[in-house]
Amino acid sequence: MILPDSTIGMLGGGQLGRMFINAAHNLGYRVIVLEPDPYSPAGLIADEHIVADYDDVNAMQRLSESCDVITTEFENIPAFVLETLATSCPVYPNASAVEKAQDRTVEKAFIRSCGLLPVPYGAITTYSEIAAAVEKIDFPAIMKTARFGYDGKGQARVNSLVEVQQAYNNFERQHCVLEQMIDLKCEISVILARNEAGESHCFPVAENIHIDGILHQSIVPARADEDIMQAAQVAAKRIADKMEYVGVLAVEFFISQKDELLVNEIAPRTHNSGHYSMDACITSQFEQQVRAICGLSFADSRLLSPVVMTNMLGDLWDLTLDKPVLNAKPILKSRTSKLHLYAKREARAGRKMGHFNTLAETTEIAQKEADAIFNAIKTQ
Ligand code: ATP
Ligand code: MG
Repeated sequence: MILPDSTIGMLGGGQLGRMFINAAHNLGYRVIVLEPDPYSPAGLIADEHIVADYDDVNAMQRLSESCDVITTEFENIPAFVLETLATSCPVYPNASAVEKAQDRTVEKAFIRSCGLLPVPYGAITTYSEIAAAVEKIDFPAIMKTARFGYDGKGQARVNSLVEVQQAYNNFERQHCVLEQMIDLKCEISVILARNEAGESHCFPVAENIHIDGILHQSIVPARADEDIMQAAQVAAKRIADKMEYVGVLAVEFFISQKDELLVNEIAPRTHNSGHYSMDACITSQFEQQVRAICGLSFADSRLLSPVVMTNMLGDLWDLTLDKPVLNAKPILKSRTSKLHLYAKREARAGRKMGHFNTLAETTEIAQKEADAIFNAIKTQ
């Protein structure tokens, strides 16, 4: 067991790392961040910030020598970095789990090997594979780069063979997957913590609303069928078990109009759709990550109140100003909403800058309040 006063290493400096550090600090841990950006959200509040590339040999050595355990908040940390660090310090999650989530083709094959259904797809690694991929799916479809996609980046909607060819060229012939467009009833996600002993603990299922491929709101409790939500939790647990995962993991699911449960993707880290837990659960996903990697027992993650989490993208900032600002007043005035800002130096359209959690007696009331706040900010 790694007890408070110990030092945790964090690979990556984004908002997930920042919120993890807050939780770790509350429990009395020190955190050292390895992240190349000197002004990253997590680096700014870390006990120590090693400003270097993730694969910098000296930085890796410094990190592993100074830490009792190392974790990550960013799925694109090169797997060999995790492997190398693991030779001298415990690293959770393990390299092979993270690696599976880094490539959509590997990920989908893995989902199948767990006996679960990925979204129907065809893999495209060369131009000549396009025709076969198109054969496998029906249009409309989405072309996605196999690696480095996030927040809807590296994706293109396609409706014909020619459009698939164009998208492949636009993505500079990187490896891609061609995914069938699913007629969605709803999107849900399961966030789960698992420890070395193989015990796992799920957070309440979140219902997720996306706008333009980016998460807009998470609603908890989700308004989905109970049996499907239970199946999603079982599926997430199976995925985590098969990966021998230690830490916090998120699985995004699609529920089709025909009530099929499809696995969209796996995130080997805490997740945007789990931010509601910061204010609406006894224990947040970030504290549970600390507990999982330090071998502490899990705390209760029960939902204390219906909640709606609303993301704030850079678009909400007044980008016409030299130093863009957010009109935070509508959130601060709402007695049942909690503001979380990530201290990013620059607001940009589409960039996740913060979120707010709105609590109420029902999700309907919470969503109404959240929407009113969001519109008030937008029309400032
Ligand atoms: P992130 O990592 O931020 O979740 P991403 O860039 O990896 O996002 P996806 O999760 O693949 O993107 O897609 C983002 C959103 O776009 C989905 O949550 C969903 O709303 C929509 N979407 C993606 N693929 C499909 C599909 N095959 N059918 C229907 N909707 C889709
Ligand atoms: Mg996604």
